[in-house]
Amino acid sequence: MSELMTDRQIDRSKMQVSDEVAIEISNMNKWYGSFHVLRDINLTVNQGERIVIAGPSGSGKSTLIRCLNALEEHQQGRIEVDGTVLSNDLKNIDKIRSEVGMVFQHFNLFPHLSILENCTLAPIWVRKTPKKEAIERAMHFLEKVKIPDQAHKYPGQLSGGQQQRVAIARSLCMMPRIMLFDEPTSALDPEMIKEVLDTMIELAEEGMTMLCVTHEMGFARQVANRVIFMDAGQIVEQNEPEEFFNNPKSERTKLFLSQIL
Ligand code: ADP
Ligand code: MG
Repeated sequence: MSELMTDRQIDRSKMQVSDEVAIEISNMNKWYGSFHVLRDINLTVNQGERIVIAGPSGSGKSTLIRCLNALEEHQQGRIEVDGTVLSNDLKNIDKIRSEVGMVFQHFNLFPHLSILENCTLAPIWVRKTPKKEAIERAMHFLEKVKIPDQAHKYPGQLSGGQQQRVAIARSLCMMPRIMLFDEPTSALDPEMIKEVLDTMIELAEEGMTMLCVTHEMGFARQVANRVIFMDAGQIVEQNEPEEFFNNPKSERTKLFLSQIL
């Protein structure tokens, strides 16, 4: 069992789940051409939930979270994010994207822009935030992820862990209500995994609604309130971490856990 690589005290009492629904997915199906990649997905996420999505490679985890901010279209069913129905109407897509931040495995920073410019670009050009305010906000979030001193460097001058923390800060600069993480630590060396997980834990303690695709089962145990297991495009099983790990129900979940723990 991979333990959470942090010596940080985690305060779960601050992680409150509200009654308010953040995301509602009903009977959602998606195909890539003729390949049925997501099958009858039903999922309700409340504000303040920290959900870990686990499952074998190719099970549809990335596709599912990419559908939540319209990086991928779905063909059937309904997705509602923070009260907005996700249709292929561009207006809705802009609204959703401004409310839902996303952090990828490969940080996707703009290499030719400084760290500060990476963080102010979208607020200034998409959100029309005044430049001074965008810079102040960027510095606030760079402090939060503990790299304000790197603001004038370029992504290539930073370590992987630092770049991923910039990617998180850049997302936060759009003031999202929900954060999606797709294997944010998978491309990092072990000592850098910890600093990124610590940043994610802080966000969780501040009440951020988070969906995280991750293989960090220590993080799932200690931070998630719910673990979702996907296989072959379906949600096979979901439960609170304790039950999920100690008492998995389906054979597919048992097999998966026996391979990773
Ligand atoms: P996971 O994140 O769980 O590894 P993905 O959501 O990336 O899974 O992929 C699910 C399945 O869909 C895989 O079989 C993958 O090959 C396929 N797939 C992913 N993206 C595309 C795409 N753009 N076009 C066609 N097939 C894709
Ligand atoms: Mg993936």
